[in-house]
Amino acid sequence: ATPLSVMVGTGKGARAGILIRSAEALETAHRLDTVVLDKTGTITEGRPRLTDVLPVDGWDGTRLLAVVAAAEADSEHPLAHAIVTAAAERGVTAPRASAFDSVTGRGVRATVEGREVLVGNARLLRAEGVDVSEAVELAERCSARGRTPVLVAVDGRPAGVLAVADTVKEDSADAVAALRRLGIDVVMITGDDRRTAAAIAAEVGVERVLAEVLPEHKADEIRRLQGEGRSVGMVGDGVNDAPALAAADVGLAIGTGTDVAIEAADVTLISGSLGGVVTAVRLSRATMRNIR
Ligand code: ADP
Ligand code: MG
Repeated sequence: ATPLSVMVGTGKGARAGILIRSAEALETAHRLDTVVLDKTGTITEGRPRLTDVLPVDGWDGTRLLAVVAAAEADSEHPLAHAIVTAAAERGVTAPRASAFDSVTGRGVRATVEGREVLVGNARLLRAEGVDVSEAVELAERCSARGRTPVLVAVDGRPAGVLAVADTVKEDSADAVAALRRLGIDVVMITGDDRRTAAAIAAEVGVERVLAEVLPEHKADEIRRLQGEGRSVGMVGDGVNDAPALAAADVGLAIGTGTDVAIEAADVTLISGSLGGVVTAVRLSRATMRNIR
């Protein structure tokens, strides 16, 4: 595109709350045929809250919540924050944990009142040799409704499941539909549970889901799609998303997300709404049409 049409396009973007970092990004966006959307904080609000406490037989709900809140007290994960906040709101006093250890993309391990506590996904518990069969049914009850199941084991045995829900942003479904009308394939990527992700995807009309992706593998998934000959846009908000945003043909960061994501991206969507992705593609197509 000519410098003038790039300037016009960039200016229009800025007025629409879309900050485009380079002429190259504005030009490349017109040929995107695939857009990958992170789930938490991108499709959803990213403000998860605790909805259910489901103890296994022999465990009390309040006691379970106290133990989990203790184990999660030092975690910076949004799921941990939801649990610790809910415990405080319900007046549940968490004992103090020791030997806290976080396992990226899986959960946490802590010692609470001398007992070994594991909190996270089924993969974490299985990796630690816990027989999760007793908790699986409880977990599936949550994931079928789009809630994230947080499994708990105490001294190597399942103690229960906590469900955490995150609301889909108001215009996510509209944005997905608009992208598809532009001829773009939409893919969801997340570290979250497969069934939870599928339920959220169905809610917003996304057909292809990459779930249970470890943070360090998100960028690999982008490169794999590029290897299929696709031109890929990635939309994300988290520290986890930064490598994938950098690997994509065009990285678009949610403006309300982390600085690390914004720095790795070519475009920032100030409002955080996915409608900005649609506007960015339209703007790029219009800019490229003007110079031909
Ligand atoms: P995402 O932000 O997309 O969910 P993460 O890689 O941060 O991806 O986490 C992946 C999964 O690991 C979570 O969905 C959850 O099941 C588990 N997990 C990670 N950290 C925690 C934690 N502190 N407490 C409970 N579960 C966790
Ligand atoms: Mg996210």
